[in-house]
Amino acid sequence: MNIERLKKGLAGLQLPCSEQICSRFERFHDILDEYNRQMDLTAVLDEDERVDRHDLDSVSVLAYTAFPEGARVIDVGTGAGFPGIPLLILRPDLQLTLLDAQQKRCVFLQEALKRLDLKARVIHGRAEDAGRDPGMRETYEVVISRAVASMGILQELMIPLARVGGKSIAWKGPKGLEELESARRAAFVLGGRLLDPVQVRIPGREDWAHLLLMTEKVRPTPAAYPRKAGLPAKKPLA
Ligand code: SAH
Repeated sequence: MNIERLKKGLAGLQLPCSEQICSRFERFHDILDEYNRQMDLTAVLDEDERVDRHDLDSVSVLAYTAFPEGARVIDVGTGAGFPGIPLLILRPDLQLTLLDAQQKRCVFLQEALKRLDLKARVIHGRAEDAGRDPGMRETYEVVISRAVASMGILQELMIPLARVGGKSIAWKGPKGLEELESARRAAFVLGGRLLDPVQVRIPGREDWAHLLLMTEKVRPTPAAYPRKAGLPAKKPLA
């Protein structure tokens, strides 16, 4: 991988970059390549694009909002581990859960964590079920998700998992601005309050208009939510 590009990007975001961090990113790229040959894990990007669009995009959140030390964090629909694994590489103190509905991705995630010598919980399941599971519902300080669904749907997958006083963070492209109204309305129903969108700058990619849409959890989520698996997408709240 292009390690210089990663180092420059992290420095530009004022994030740390130790030997161990670099080596874990390198190993993560190697494992992705290896598994991508056998299964369709994630879009194959050239080396530089992968550093920018996957690694730096995932960790850039740390430059914009605080993750408390040792916080319980869940990545909803993590796929090949984005944004969860890059975040864990920078912040191994986090108690991270990686959730995905696809079994093959969970197998990959377990293997990746083992080879990176990082600890996280991998759960094969749907966010709608996790949101009704007493061991998970309203237990996370931070709920994160990238490229899983539009905001009217995503809010119902994320907010029930956040504890009151916690927050959810959705990674969005420029079109995220069109989803603000539905994000706000769905958040209100679910006990959340949508914050102003945050524009993210990836060093060297200032032309990109990435957004973080964050919601504060201000009240408990009503018992009716999340609805059963599939319904949030079929009949979005907003
Ligand atoms: N977050 C990753 C993957 C995005 S692809 C990235 O940014 O690269 C979307 C992923 O979400 C897929 O792996 C899919 O299995 C998962 N997913 C979609 N709906 C889900 C749900 N309701 N619960 C859990 N996972 C879901």
